[in-house]
Amino acid sequence: MKIMQPLLVAALCAAVGSAYAAEHKLNADVVVVGAGSAGLTASVQAAENGAKVILLEKNPFVGGSSSFAEGLFGVESEWQRLRSDTLTREEALKGLLERHFHQIDAIKTKDYVEGSAENLDWLAKHGIKFEVVRMTPWEEPTWHVIGEYKGSNHGAALIKALKDNADKLGVETLMSTPATKLLTNKEGDVIGVEAKAKNGDTYVISTKNVILASGGFGDDPKKVQEWAHRDPKAWKSSVPVNKTGDGIQMALDIGAQMGPVSFVGHHGTEGKGIKFLSNLYVTSWQPAALWVNADGNRFTNEGVALSFSQAANAIYSQYGHYAWSIFDDSQVKYMMEKGVDSGVGVLVPVGAKMTELQKDIDAALKADSDAFKAASSVAQLAKEINVPEKNLERAVAEYNKYCEEKHDGMFYKNPAYMRPLNTKKLYAIKLGAYYFSSYGGLRTNRDHQVLDKNNKPIKGLYAAGLEVSDMVGPTYTTWSSGHAFGFAAYSGRHAAINATKDLKK
Ligand SMILES: Cc1cc2nc3c(=O)[nH]c(=O)nc-3n(C[C@H](O)[C@H](O)[C@H](O)COP(=O)(O)OP(=O)(O)OC[C@H]3O[C@@H](n4cnc5c(N)ncnc54)[C@H](O)[C@@H]3O)c2cc1C
Repeated sequence: MKIMQPLLVAALCAAVGSAYAAEHKLNADVVVVGAGSAGLTASVQAAENGAKVILLEKNPFVGGSSSFAEGLFGVESEWQRLRSDTLTREEALKGLLERHFHQIDAIKTKDYVEGSAENLDWLAKHGIKFEVVRMTPWEEPTWHVIGEYKGSNHGAALIKALKDNADKLGVETLMSTPATKLLTNKEGDVIGVEAKAKNGDTYVISTKNVILASGGFGDDPKKVQEWAHRDPKAWKSSVPVNKTGDGIQMALDIGAQMGPVSFVGHHGTEGKGIKFLSNLYVTSWQPAALWVNADGNRFTNEGVALSFSQAANAIYSQYGHYAWSIFDDSQVKYMMEKGVDSGVGVLVPVGAKMTELQKDIDAALKADSDAFKAASSVAQLAKEINVPEKNLERAVAEYNKYCEEKHDGMFYKNPAYMRPLNTKKLYAIKLGAYYFSSYGGLRTNRDHQVLDKNNKPIKGLYAAGLEVSDMVGPTYTTWSSGHAFGFAAYSGRHAAINATKDLKK
């Protein structure tokens, strides 16, 4: 028997598949688009309020970015009470307005700050455990890191717990079934959603309430360029999960107003022989180093490494959008024996000993890494990282002088992170700018309803989580650690509370 060409088989399968693709007509009180933390809190709350809920998820798995996150913002929570933490809601609101340059929605932020503790209580009642962790001296202890649930931790635990609750409440979840279009009547009110499953099946779901929670546009480089005016080759999603701004685009298509966009940025590195979150990767997050730009000049207080979002800005602002972090053999020893000064979330906590660091260094050098170099003199290092030797010589000499004097005469870095460089045993790791997720796109009112171009709510349309504008300014701040995840879980739930209020009318 003649074996069929694989391409022919694929074409036949596609033809047969589409011939048998089913058209489903469904109805629901609430349709939720996206099964991350915003979408799952929305689904559970809506179902608890008696609504028939259909949850659409684009991927073959639930969780989106939320599965990778670690902790949620909260203030005056039970967990903070038990630690005798002192930050008040008033201080949190004031601090947020200032740190976001008043470029955020003050009233929605107030609601979020004041509702954050109750929202954590609600999550705890749904099986989620918390512990308050402070990651760096730059932040307030607002980060409620999630404990274990059925063998999972952090964001994955929250997702598993909420999905269990949703299943128990009868939420119908359609996996690998992205929403593709919002349906409206002639008044412009939302009356349904269309979705297309990966197997070709189509869905037309009639509903009076759609909650968009599709997690932003960070994995679509074209939108990163067009909507955020960033160079997607140098400003990159570090954990892409297929989020392409679908919710935002669908809302824009029916007349929603485009709001400001931002990112949860962070610095980091990538290159031949360097694994994400390896001991060598973690060197790129350390403040005890000399950072130089493409000209070989020191350009910032490296202490910014303690606030990852601002560190991404400092690096992206440089010519070519990159920098080099220079350290030496004594820093390698310090990280191996004493542990890191700056953690990478709770995955690499402060003080974690980088026992594999020397091994990672040897492997990266053996791989002739483009992003990691070693040298036995400043002149050699300048050649390796392709910066003017004279500038690098001056930067190292000045830095070492400031270290000896225990006073950073240029950028006033905390002397705790000023350690002189041994110029006979130098290393350099390339720094780049990345983000965990985009932030913003749709403007919503206090009830989480999406606003149209005339600033009027679009009846039946809500948005939550990362697709909501005006919750961060031009830059995310780590001061209120857990801000993005906390807001996703808060706004999803509160969008559902408002959407189901409408049902009773
Ligand atoms: C590694 C990492 C660590 C992080 N740590 C923290 C942290 O500790 N604290 C913090 O505040 N923030 C953190 N964040 C950011 C945090 O993940 C987000 O703020 C939050 O989880 C976003 O929740 P969300 O529900 O809005 O989006 P997501 O969780 O991304 O969910 C969106 C969902 O929508 C789905 N979707 C997309 N398009 C469609 C469509 N057309 N139809 C149906 N479904 C669709 C996606 O597949 C996804 O499942 C971190 C992010 C990463 C990547």
